[in-house]
Amino acid sequence: MRKCAIFDEYIAGKSAEEVKERLGIERVVKLASNENPYGASPKAIEVLRSFKDLHIYPNPEYKALREKLSEYTGWEAERIVIGAGIDGILETVFKILIDEGDEVLIPVPTFQYYRILARLHCAREVLVKRDDRFRIPENVVDFLSEKTKLVIIPFPNNPTGNTEDFKLIEEIVSSTKAVVFIDEAYIEFSDEKLEMDSDNLIVARTMSKAFGLANLRIGYARLPKWLLKFYRSASTPFPVSTLAEKCAIAALEDLEWMKSCVEKIKRERERVFHELKKIVRVFPSQANFLFFKARKGLAEDLLMKGVIIRDCKSFGTEGYRVTIGKPEDNDFFLEKLKEVI
Ligand code: PMP
Repeated sequence: MRKCAIFDEYIAGKSAEEVKERLGIERVVKLASNENPYGASPKAIEVLRSFKDLHIYPNPEYKALREKLSEYTGWEAERIVIGAGIDGILETVFKILIDEGDEVLIPVPTFQYYRILARLHCAREVLVKRDDRFRIPENVVDFLSEKTKLVIIPFPNNPTGNTEDFKLIEEIVSSTKAVVFIDEAYIEFSDEKLEMDSDNLIVARTMSKAFGLANLRIGYARLPKWLLKFYRSASTPFPVSTLAEKCAIAALEDLEWMKSCVEKIKRERERVFHELKKIVRVFPSQANFLFFKARKGLAEDLLMKGVIIRDCKSFGTEGYRVTIGKPEDNDFFLEKLKEVI
């Protein structure tokens, strides 16, 4: 066992089935994993039904998917890599960049998997505390050193839903030789989009959120050219199945579906925000969830009433994150919240 690593388990949102069984209640609404409540494009589901080649290995180049993603993002296809979710992309990036004692700069609170990977790679975590609106503080560049190898910037951030000042990100990128990893898992829900490129910048995205394909594990990223061969040498050979690749292509050919889901979710996000504002301290969000502060033990009490939300203790902060669901599920959450508050 590696001595320098601390093994902390990733804590995933509970499933509705698990809670139904445990509590013996009829209606359970899961608003805890930032999934798309409308599901995947019906065109992706059609592909799933007709796929037969389960015995054949995927083609590891994922050329067709990279070309479709290039059309969608405007990024050069040659610079796009495919991974098993952003989680898989992060794993490969840590493998190629991080040795024992290297520094990884992580603004906190944030998505916990960054810290798990830093520890597994025996890195020194440089945790920079976000300001009172959860933005990265202006003095962040003071935390960069010769040993900094990776800077992680989720845009928008999970669990707080905020974006960052573009100028500050530009300043970070130009002040360091370290690789800056922008995690755009929720970018489709954001009105603000960063459009930056640099030789030390990785931008990663996923089809788990807006595209409703979380179960297929499709992440992708744009890498600087010099990193590509290192990335390929360290990635697992077949991170995504051909089935997943074909479903992803079908979903990308049906952007209308994704866009209409995003519009509905954004409309609901604003409605739920205004309702929540009447009862708790809630923060504006550019993602498909809202972060709010309320008394301790609230998530457990809501769970007893059939609503699963996220207690953000494991993200290193007090507060709760609720995913935006369908209107009727959001109403159920608001009703139960009023009962327990
Ligand atoms: N980054 C952030 C900020 C996330 O919130 C998540 C998922 N919870 C991920 C990455 C991982 O996403 P994927 O399903 O693509 O691995």
